[in-house]
This record gives sequence, C-alpha cells and structure tokens, in this order.
Amino acid sequence: MNRPPVLDFVVVGGGIVGLATAHELLQQVPGASVALVEKEDRLAAHQSGHNSGVIHAGVYYEPGSLKARLSHAGLQQTLAFCQKNAVVHQQCGKLILAVTPAEVAPLEVLHARALANGAAVRWLVGPEIQALEPNVVGVAGLLVAATGIVDYVGMCHALARQITLAGGEIKLNTPVQALREGPAHVALDTPQGTLHARQVIVCGGLQADRLLRASGITPDFAIVPFRGDYFRLPATHNQIVKHLIYPVPDPRLPFLGIHLTRLFDGGVSVGPSAMLALSREDYRQHAFDWRDAWAAARYAGTWRLLARYPGAGLRELGCALSQRRYLRAVQRYCPSLTQADLLPCVPGIRAQAVSPSGHLIHDFLLKQTTRMLHVCNAPSPAATAALPIAAEIVTRLLGAQHTPSARAASPLNSSK
Ligand SMILES: Cc1cc2nc3c(=O)[nH]c(=O)nc-3n(C[C@H](O)[C@H](O)[C@H](O)COP(=O)(O)OP(=O)(O)OC[C@H]3O[C@@H](n4cnc5c(N)ncnc54)[C@H](O)[C@@H]3O)c2cc1C
Repeated sequence: MNRPPVLDFVVVGGGIVGLATAHELLQQVPGASVALVEKEDRLAAHQSGHNSGVIHAGVYYEPGSLKARLSHAGLQQTLAFCQKNAVVHQQCGKLILAVTPAEVAPLEVLHARALANGAAVRWLVGPEIQALEPNVVGVAGLLVAATGIVDYVGMCHALARQITLAGGEIKLNTPVQALREGPAHVALDTPQGTLHARQVIVCGGLQADRLLRASGITPDFAIVPFRGDYFRLPATHNQIVKHLIYPVPDPRLPFLGIHLTRLFDGGVSVGPSAMLALSREDYRQHAFDWRDAWAAARYAGTWRLLARYPGAGLRELGCALSQRRYLRAVQRYCPSLTQADLLPCVPGIRAQAVSPSGHLIHDFLLKQTTRMLHVCNAPSPAATAALPIAAEIVTRLLGAQHTPSARAASPLNSSK
C-alpha cells in the first residue's frame, strides 16, 4: 500500500497571518514542502479582506507586549514588502484628537506610550490642528506621521504569488475538519482527504477556538466576534481630511473608536463600530447564525464581559441601532458631516479572544505543542504586524524542531 506523502509544513488559513507564515517558511527553509489550506473559495475572505486598511505605527499597545514589538517592526516591513511587490499603499499620517479638555489626560497617556514604543509622534494644540486639518476640531492632537494605508487584499495576493513561486501550494475550498497529532506527524482531515505534515500552523482567525478544539485541545478562551459597521463618504468628500482622524479610544478596550480613514482608492470611510456579532462570518445586516449565537450565549465569558463594560456595550448598541447616534460620534470631531454623507459600506467582523472571566485578551496569543502552533488571538494590528508575526512563528517552530525535548507535547506551551 502507498503511504501518503508527509509535507514539511501545512498552514491552515488563507488570511494575511497564514499567508505571511507560509511565505516566511519558504524563505527560512528553502525547498521545504509547504501547503496552505483555506476553507473559502478565495484568499482574505474574512478579517484580512474586511478591515480599515491601516498600517499602524505602534502607538497604543502596552510597552513590551508582542503587539507593541511586532507592530513597530510591522510598519517598516509592510512598507518594504509593498514597495517591492507593487502593492498600493501610502504613508498619509494620522491624527488622534482630544475633542474635550477631559480627553487631554488620556491623550497624554497615549503620547507617553507611543514614545515608549519608539513611535515618532508630535503633540499639537488647537490652532495647529486647524491649520493642518481645517474640517476637524480638537483641543489637542497627536500626529503620527508614519501611519499609512494599504490594500491588504492586494498584499495577500502578492504573498500568495511569492508562495507559489517558491514552490508552495495553495488549496482553496479545503476546510480542515480535524487535526490529529501523532509522534511523527499531524493528520489533517478535509472533505478532499487527509493531509499529513510534520508541522502545522493554524491561523484560523474567527475560528481559532474551534480549530483548537478540533485538534483535541480544550481552549482556555473563546472567540467572541465583534462586528464593525462602516460607512463611506460621498466622492465629493474625498478631500475632507488629509490624514486619518481618530478619537481618543477607551483605554480598557482594544477598539480604536469610529475614525475617518482615507482609502487607497481615494475615498474616505467612517467606522468601525464594535458590536457583539451574532454570526462570525456573515456580513449581511442583522446576520444571525444559530451555532455562533449559541456559542457566544452559553459562554460565561461573554456575559462577564458585558457586565464589565456596560457603558461601552450600550454605546455600541446605540450606534448599531441608530445611524444618528453613529453620526454624532463622528460629528464630535468632524462637525460638517451630515446623515446624507453616510453611504452604505461592507462591514468587518473582528475575532477577539475573551477569557472565561470576561477579560478581553489584548495581546497576540500563540499556543504550541510539539508539532502544532495555533495562532489563538491575532486582533488589530495583526494585519500590520503579519510579517513579523510570521517570523516569530517560524522562529518558535524551528526552535521546537531543533530541540524537541525542550517542549512538552501536551498540555500546550502557551505564550503571548
Ligand atoms: C473591522 C476590522 C478593522 C481592522 N482594521 C485593521 C487595520 O486597520 N490595521 C490592522 O493592522 N489590522 C486591522 N484589523 C485586524 C486585522 O484585519 C486582523 O488582525 C488580521 O486580518 C488577522 O488575520 P488572520 O489571517 O489571523 O485572520 P483572517 O483574515 O480572518 O483569516 C483566517 C482564515 O482562516 C480560514 N479558516 C478558518 N477556519 C478554517 C478551517 N477550518 N479550514 C481552513 N481555513 C479556515 C478563514 O476562512 C480565513 O480566511 C481589523 C479587523 C477588523 C475586523
């Protein structure tokens, strides 16, 4: 009987993190057999193709965290990759605005954080803001000149081209149903048959907890989906701002607030909101999926999270139910916008890992066994940081391969 071939690496998930990982593997281990499997009929079908398209500069994140370190590196690496591979991008800069005196102190905290993270920022006062951006208002602002915008779907396709050129294989329409780790390899069951690989990297985004469970591992978190509704301004407003305009965010939450984003096609978007979603991967208005809704409802962490942030929850619910409330959130810093300016736009759904105690897991989270590495939490700015996240994954994997005894098979080695 013919034995099935055992690949060196299989990557699960054709979002930007999975693609960057397959790309990095082929760079670090030339000649390795690498396959990337994606359940949808296209790449970047979920978060990587439904986001704000911002290359972040590492302002917000806890100094010393993986997020801070990898987003700082990600900015430069993303720009370099896009230049080399002709992916549309632009370094237009961003302005974070304190609209009221009460928001100045939290903006000062962000200022200190940005400096600690090595991000170049400039403090602006009211008249300087007016001179720079006549259509927005604020009593103080933080200018982050390095922030940019990019076509992340274009970047995913550029990564895919590089993977194929280097000998890797991309299999679309291939959902992974179960992963079985043995002493010599991992077996991945798909409707098209079973794949075998010496090492498996799972980058499943909104399905991260389910893929952990499908590997026989009980997750110590759950993915709670947060829907982000966007609007697009009419083309007559394409020049309304020169920079990306952000409010001061609630520091307890990983969401950055409804912002004005310049798009790489010349337009301007407004959003996203951050409302608990009842479907993980359905972008229609009022989308509802029984399995996803039930998973969120029976998870104690969801209810503890809602109890922890009742104000934020109600604010987001207000924005979800009332376009007027949504508009008011933007009018605080861009008063000339009207309801007629909010044109429909495709939403995004964030994968956010939440602990059983209802804490949002802010940092990137990777969990590793002898032959598998699961990316459990890769929220924003994981698109910015995808290339350094991939380098981090490959370093951990190759370390594991070379010193197998250093890693216990199970329970999982987990680290941020
Ligand atoms: C509204 C919104 C705005 C954002 N804005 C920004 C931003 O401006 N800048 C930034 O840096 N980041 C931003 N982010 C975050 C960023 O988009 C994500 O962190 C990043 O795209 C995560 O990439 P990923 O590859 O981990 O996940 P995904 O892109 O979701 O990819 C996961 C893939 O795994 C596949 N998959 C799942 N289960 C299986 C299975 N069983 N078998 C095979 N395949 C499977 C899915 O189909 C999917 O294609 C934003 C996110 C959202 C939602």
